Amino acid sequence: MLAGWLDESWTGDASGPPTGPERRLRRARTTALAGLSYAVDLGVLLLFWLGGAAPVRLLALYAGLAALHLLVFGSLQISGASERAANPNLTGLQMAWAIAMQLAAMLWAPAVAGYFIGVMFVVFSFGALRLSLRSALGMWAATSIALALLLWRFPTLGVMPLQVRESAWVRVGVGLGFCTLLLRCLMLNSRVMALRARSMREAAKQAAEAAAARERATRDGLTGALNRDGLTPLLERELAQLRAHGTDSCVAMIDIDWFKSINDGCGHLTGDRVLRALVDLLHAHLRASDRLARFGGEEFVLVMPSTGELDGVDIAERLRQLVERQDWSTLAPDLGLTVSIGVAQAHRGDRVETLLARADTALYGAKASGRNRCCVAMRVDAMLDEAPPRHAMQFDRG
Ligand code: GH3
Ligand code: MG
Ligand code: MG
Repeated sequence: MLAGWLDESWTGDASGPPTGPERRLRRARTTALAGLSYAVDLGVLLLFWLGGAAPVRLLALYAGLAALHLLVFGSLQISGASERAANPNLTGLQMAWAIAMQLAAMLWAPAVAGYFIGVMFVVFSFGALRLSLRSALGMWAATSIALALLLWRFPTLGVMPLQVRESAWVRVGVGLGFCTLLLRCLMLNSRVMALRARSMREAAKQAAEAAAARERATRDGLTGALNRDGLTPLLERELAQLRAHGTDSCVAMIDIDWFKSINDGCGHLTGDRVLRALVDLLHAHLRASDRLARFGGEEFVLVMPSTGELDGVDIAERLRQLVERQDWSTLAPDLGLTVSIGVAQAHRGDRVETLLARADTALYGAKASGRNRCCVAMRVDAMLDEAPPRHAMQFDRG
């Protein structure tokens, strides 16, 4: 349980995004880690006291200030009172508190002042987790001034060897103290890495969610085909490819025949099911490169990249036959379904609208000539040659 708590406190990795109270608890957990560090200090101080290098009042003062630290900052964080602060972790204040404790300890146990300077490294590593560089530098300047004042006021501090009775306790205290200092610095830096890894994971997750949201925004909710927002950039890309590299491209406008009568006869819900089933059927038989979009109502646009007119018509005709031969009676008894299709090849001078308009004209031709057939749009140059222009010609069925 303790290991789990430590692990979570370390990486900040409780499952799911932190909510209000949970976030506060996480802040308090980080403060509790400072408590662990204080506990180690107290152990080392105890050895110093046993060896006569620190007075008992320092031990009492250190323990009291450490407990107060946890109490004050912990309760400010858990109660949510700290949420109003610019840095709800109260990192700067916590650092100032801990540094003041080290300065007091240096003053009262000058023989082992080096240890408390070492603790300051830990405090600064802790602060670097949350403080901006500016605040961290401010904290460093303030600490340096306080240290300078202390050295000025007590010139022997750190310069003259202080008279302390030779003691195994002090030697063990200094040895253990420095070992744990190194360990604490190491742990804090590993925590920085863990936090960094977490923020990278979160950034990757957010990017994936944003991509999924973008993808959803380009999908038709009923059928799962692309919607118009998905279709337009696709066609723009095709036209750009054509202009840049001369790559052929075709579109087919597909419209269900007499769909209104299906709605009227079988109900709107069955109509919806037919739309979904048609899209599923088409998707199952499209080439990997082809994309299907719902243009509106019961009208779809198939985009066929790298496809010339003849192949485009071939594919459209194959799909028309597929729909005609499919058994639709599972959706409604005796239901039959056919589609009319207008195919248009993209031209260099096309815009999305002109390309779709030609496919639509071809579709109109297919409807006008009896439905359940494919028509191909006339080439622009052929249309210019003819007078009056016929905008679409029927494709020879079967
Ligand atoms: P045509 O062969 O000339 O295309 O005849 P049609 O009946 O298929 O065409 P029309 O434009 O007269 O009717 C299309 C119908 O499609 C009318 C509309 O209610 C229906 N429709 C449009 N969107 C949906 C939808 O999302 N679900 C259902 N169930 N029906 C829809
Ligand atoms: Mg229709
Ligand atoms: Mg229609």
